[in-house]
Amino acid sequence: MRIDTAALRLTLGYLLLAGLWILLSDHLLTALGLSLVQQERLQSLKGLFFVVLTSALLYLILHRHAQQYRSARLQLAGNEERLRLALDATRDGLWDWDVSSRRVFFSEGYAKLLGLTPQALGDTREDWAARLHPDDQERALHALNAELSEQSYENIYRLRHADGSYRWIHSRGRLLRDEQGQPQRFIGIASDITRQRAIDDSLRQAAAVFDATQEGVLVTDAEQRIVHVNPAFSRITGYSSEEILGQHPTLLKSGRHDANFYQSLWQALENRGAWSGEVWNRRKSGEIYPQWQCIRVIHDEQGRVSHYVAVFSDITALKRSQRELDYLAHHDPLSNLPNRLLFTERVAHALERSKIEELRGAVLLIDLDHFKHINESLGHNVGDLLLKSVGERLQHGLPNGSTLARLGGDEFGLLSENCAGATQAAELAQRLLRNLETPFRLDGHELYIGASIGISLFPEDADSVEQILRNADSALFKAKSSGREGYAFYVQELTDYARQRVELASSLRHALDNQELRVYYQPLHDLRDGSQVGMEALVRWQHPQRGLIPPAEFIPIAEDNGMIGVIDAWVLEQACRQMVRWNDKGGRLNFVAVNVSSRLFSRGELDQRVAAVLAETGLPPEQLELEVTESAIMEDPDAALKLLTSLRALGVRLAIDDFGTGYSSLARLKRLPVDKLKLDQSFVRGLPDDPEDAAITRAVIALGKSLGLKVLAEGIEQPAQADFLRELGCNYGQGYHFGRPQPVPAETLDTTTANEAKNSQSSTRS
Ligand code: C2E
Ligand code: MG
Ligand code: MG
Repeated sequence: MRIDTAALRLTLGYLLLAGLWILLSDHLLTALGLSLVQQERLQSLKGLFFVVLTSALLYLILHRHAQQYRSARLQLAGNEERLRLALDATRDGLWDWDVSSRRVFFSEGYAKLLGLTPQALGDTREDWAARLHPDDQERALHALNAELSEQSYENIYRLRHADGSYRWIHSRGRLLRDEQGQPQRFIGIASDITRQRAIDDSLRQAAAVFDATQEGVLVTDAEQRIVHVNPAFSRITGYSSEEILGQHPTLLKSGRHDANFYQSLWQALENRGAWSGEVWNRRKSGEIYPQWQCIRVIHDEQGRVSHYVAVFSDITALKRSQRELDYLAHHDPLSNLPNRLLFTERVAHALERSKIEELRGAVLLIDLDHFKHINESLGHNVGDLLLKSVGERLQHGLPNGSTLARLGGDEFGLLSENCAGATQAAELAQRLLRNLETPFRLDGHELYIGASIGISLFPEDADSVEQILRNADSALFKAKSSGREGYAFYVQELTDYARQRVELASSLRHALDNQELRVYYQPLHDLRDGSQVGMEALVRWQHPQRGLIPPAEFIPIAEDNGMIGVIDAWVLEQACRQMVRWNDKGGRLNFVAVNVSSRLFSRGELDQRVAAVLAETGLPPEQLELEVTESAIMEDPDAALKLLTSLRALGVRLAIDDFGTGYSSLARLKRLPVDKLKLDQSFVRGLPDDPEDAAITRAVIALGKSLGLKVLAEGIEQPAQADFLRELGCNYGQGYHFGRPQPVPAETLDTTTANEAKNSQSSTRS
């Protein structure tokens, strides 16, 4: 135990003084030479004086000591208070571990960190360790033990809070040792860093996102100096962070946007604190590219702008694929022309414009004639090549403001946005047809292809896109069925006609059952001597409401709805029976001619049906002539050759009807087992004056002669036509000049058909 030196010095001083006093004061009294009584009295006084003096001294010492003690206590209390307040202010807790007693003092603040009172927390190391998170227990205790040998200590671990959750605690402390160097106490403070940890975590995550994101990030300060960029920024723009930091973002400007653009951007930032949109910027390489960008304003605590953050993604690839998709959606891949979708959009747009600007336009639908043959005979590759070339040809020399589109199959559409009227539209159609006149040389083939064109004018014909296209379609239908001109205009009547067609189709189904069909006969004459050689059977429909309907009107419908087979079979049978009757009555006709539909014709069972009818009626086969149109043959020349050969084998005669309109090739014609060519009446009409018609007629007659075929001219109405044809050496003729199609006179009919003939005679229109 240490003896306080000050106390020792004081005690020794006192001892010396008191000793000296006792020794010297008695000598002094003796030296004074006083009486014994006086000496005794002074002796008492001297003792009393000594007691008083030492008492005063004792008092002074004690008083001073008490004062010092008090002020030390006050100072200590003040320090404690300060420490407590400081700890409270930082919300830290104090811990103090007395190593020898193994007790730990936890301050109120410490207990509060865990939602407890110091009593509830306990005062042993074990109480504390029991609150450690299981995952942290080993590490925390190990660190604590290790620190006992070191001097300063710092540790982070989780402790269980009263509410059951865990709090992150940051503990720092120091080990104090006694003079012998033995650990005496371990003291320190602890802080709850749970929130800080959460913030750190999210900052770490944000930093990872910042680095790893595919979006470029650029941060500027309030003066728009770039202060931060991420790796994606460098990847997209080509600028490294060293190159760009401290620069102004105008470095990235492409020059594509005008002042207004930036003005509205800044306005949005000012008003809403954010802006997003598409911006074209420039990379370091100079390339201009589109990016989608969001800019946000960051404010400091005082509400002043501190930073701008821009996040952007490069949308070059997106734009490209958008463009490609858009192109694909609006173009035909084969011809690269606009497709139906784009075409209708353009028509809609043109129609709108025409209403506002009082412009006039036209839509032309172009359909290739007999394209199917090319596909079937030469294959789809050649067909595709032809469609491509046709597209190129049609596009050649088109006026400005035209859109040529491929609408599908062999159909093209042309929109002329500035077409003053019908004359200009007709000129346009003629130009298109002329463009196709020269043969196409494809894959070693020389191909000719014609087209039909339907024209609809707007805004006069229609005020909606659908109507324009529908009109052009009916005009196309008209062009197709009207033969040689190649183009036709839409007129309202066409629409009515289409409607009637639908009605006719449904009533045609019952025409045969209701005995509404009639067979008319038109005489066929030998042009040399004028004698009648035969009759052509021509079907009529005696419609209960509409009267007599010519075949041109209902045969196509019957072909469409499949009734043609029954109708043709019925006509064939009627005609054969009639011919037998004429024979029986001693008539001198060589044959009866019956028309055969291309549909039935291509179905291939025709020979069996003809054989059956011949057998049933007993008509000699050479007295039956079957007329097959040239176009029907050309639709499928190989099948035609097969069928005509088998018909020929039955012994019947064969004629090619409407010759000159079906584009037959001479090579094929030569091989067909036919007897006769029937020159189409469209060529006879202009005779004898029209030089073109005369030339064609001459050519067909010469052709017939050279192939060993007879030639019959249809539609002879004038004696002059008959004379002209006779002179050219045409063998036969047919037409109003010789006689119109007529029902069989009543007296020659048997009773079952007599009434029919009467009915039909009364409403004859031919
Ligand atoms: P087609 O076989 O070429 O018949 C000749 C057409 O010309 C007939 O018209 C006839 O009335 C008409 N014609 C005859 N001479 C003259 C004339 O001098 N001037 C004028 N302008 N026309 C004349 P139709 O009877 O209206 O028949 C039209 C077409 O309908 C026929 O043309 C034929 O292809 C088809 N057709 C007629 N009956 C049948 C049939 O039973 N079955 C099939 N599949 N088609 C038939
Ligand atoms: Mg005919
Ligand atoms: Mg004909």
